[in-house]
Amino acid sequence: GSTIGIIGGGQLGRMLAVAAAQIGYRSHVYAPEATGPAGEVCAEWTQGDYEDAGALKRFAESCHVVTYEFENLPVEALAATEGLRPFHPSVEALRIAQDRALEKGFAGRHDIPTAPWTAVNTLDELRDAVAGIGTPAILKTRRFGYDGKGQARLCSPDDIEAAWQTIGGQPAVLEGFVRFDVEYSVLLARAPNGESVAWDVPTNVHSNGVLALSTVPPQGQVAEQVADAVTLSKRLADALDYVGVLAVEWFAGADGPIFNEMAPRVHNSGHWTIEGATTSQFENHIRAICGLPLGSTSLMGSHVEMENLIGEEAERWPAILAERDAHLHLYGKSVRPGRKMGHVTRVTR
Ligand code: ATP
Ligand code: MG
Ligand code: MG
Repeated sequence: GSTIGIIGGGQLGRMLAVAAAQIGYRSHVYAPEATGPAGEVCAEWTQGDYEDAGALKRFAESCHVVTYEFENLPVEALAATEGLRPFHPSVEALRIAQDRALEKGFAGRHDIPTAPWTAVNTLDELRDAVAGIGTPAILKTRRFGYDGKGQARLCSPDDIEAAWQTIGGQPAVLEGFVRFDVEYSVLLARAPNGESVAWDVPTNVHSNGVLALSTVPPQGQVAEQVADAVTLSKRLADALDYVGVLAVEWFAGADGPIFNEMAPRVHNSGHWTIEGATTSQFENHIRAICGLPLGSTSLMGSHVEMENLIGEEAERWPAILAERDAHLHLYGKSVRPGRKMGHVTRVTR
């Protein structure tokens, strides 16, 4: 069989490798650690730095197609591998998604609504931006933020210095505060021929900035906006000539979906699709990057919920196994507070 190269060895890589194996592909993982959650299920593991363009090139040569499960990769090092083997999603899509200013600018150029925003590089530029956008507002580092880290809220102009300190004075964007009741993410898979499919949009509940629970089908305002958000998400994917699974986060604004950010990869809010949809996000990602037909995203039940097991919540695993209809996933990680250790999916038929 063919070999899929996966850059990054975490739980997303693990679930990609499992899906790949199911349809006859072997996986070769490249990651800086000696092993990781994907290590138990991949055929081969290469330890190497993400910056090491030479090692990445040799890795790509050992594979038929290359993808990634981790988005904070240096695009310069990847650019060399892109010409060697099919590389999906593209380095250009990754470059845009890594940078809040680039992704919001890209969305705006394709008539996709965003919060008012401005790029800021200095404290003086932040003062000007606050004068223009007003408060409340959120200052976010352009790069490397996740789970709400690298952000500071400004309630009034008095918060400017403190906010700049909080984010460490890095290149940032200032965003106007959007009033919304719910936020949601659209997950879609797009094939090289331009076909794309989207899954049902879950309602997500976060706890301390980390996804705690996803449920489908969506309710209330999310359900009302889903069709528009899917259309806009597909527009974004088409404009990027995207191949693979793309996650797009939206706020439910009073006048429709407002783009927040995108992740150029499979996404935690789509873990419910493993048992809850006909074809999972992981399998459709593999199908898309291999140029195979995409599978149906239809629901396997009337209701599906996915609960993340964070930190010591994973110790509940015996009770979860004792539930007859729960699907337990553990990622083989050692317990640390706040760490995503596994998840459990419950499908109501
Ligand atoms: P992750 O990648 O884990 O989703 P992140 O660190 O990239 O998070 P964002 O998703 O941009 O950060 O923001 C985190 C949360 O803060 C959002 O899910 C939303 O609840 C809130 N938030 C972000 N931007 C705004 C905004 N402009 N107005 C109101 N709330 C916001
Ligand atoms: Mg993010
Ligand atoms: Mg987010």
